[in-house]
Amino acid sequence: MIDLHTHTTFSDGTDSPLALVKKASSSGVSVLAITDHDSTASWEEAKAALHGDLKLALGAEVSCLTEDGISVHMLGLLFDGGNQALQQLLSDSRDTRIPRMKKMIENLQGAGYQITLEDVEASTPEGATVGRPHLADALVAKKIVKSRDEAFTELLHNDSPFYVSHFAPTPEDSIRAIRSAGGVAVIAHPFASRRGQSLTPDSFSSLVSAGLNGIEVFHRDQSEDERQQLIEIAETLNLVITGSSDYHGTGKLNQLGENTTTQAEWERLESMADQRRVVSR
Ligand code: AMP
Ligand code: ZN
Ligand code: FE
Ligand code: FE
Repeated sequence: MIDLHTHTTFSDGTDSPLALVKKASSSGVSVLAITDHDSTASWEEAKAALHGDLKLALGAEVSCLTEDGISVHMLGLLFDGGNQALQQLLSDSRDTRIPRMKKMIENLQGAGYQITLEDVEASTPEGATVGRPHLADALVAKKIVKSRDEAFTELLHNDSPFYVSHFAPTPEDSIRAIRSAGGVAVIAHPFASRRGQSLTPDSFSSLVSAGLNGIEVFHRDQSEDERQQLIEIAETLNLVITGSSDYHGTGKLNQLGENTTTQAEWERLESMADQRRVVSR
């Protein structure tokens, strides 16, 4: 079972890298990608926790914004974690998440919700990329909503009046940065329309020119129809097709291995990195 998109407590997942690696091993995952939002901080702990036959494809999920302001997530896998330009891009993105969080809190306060930055800090694990799920957890702790999911549906979704975006590179810039660092770029859930405005089929050619390697097709936020359209695009543009869980621990319903990538597509993707960076024991 090959699962190429998961999160830990170094972003908005609820399992530590150690717990995630253990869970992947015991659930029959053969290749696990760890892709925290805008961060590689989980890599070290994950590598140290590696045991048995499990292989790790270390990466990050890079937050991007198109010129039209559409939020896009780019999975970067198998890149050199020591690449300065890519680390700078990730750290710029993390930095702008803090003033952005303050603005979202002000928006909520303006509407009478009793929530503070301290509440959100208390819900954010040490070293984590701060995001809306941590704000959601703080709203749950304050009994303003019952769950992360309710927080998103009621208050934090992309079209909500409380929502604020943060600085992010364009998808093309993030692809170029990932490829220059030797890795491969797979666009995450590009047609997940239920999350808000999503990409259109005509956006893919410019992503391919920038060096895109693959499309995440099998993902719970994409309908059967959306998956079929993506398969056609991938076949036309000769892109790798992936599937993954986007596991977040108890932070989301997504279960490890609920969607997977075939061995053949994984091997094709892996061969596109500039060197073999899969970690095994
Ligand atoms: P941010 O990066 O701060 O904009 O927050 C986006 C994150 O929120 C993504 O990683 C999603 O996984 C997460 N998210 C989106 N919708 C939901 C939901 N309904 N329940 C839990 N997490 C969600
Ligand atoms: Zn997330
Ligand atoms: Fe995502
Ligand atoms: Fe994700």
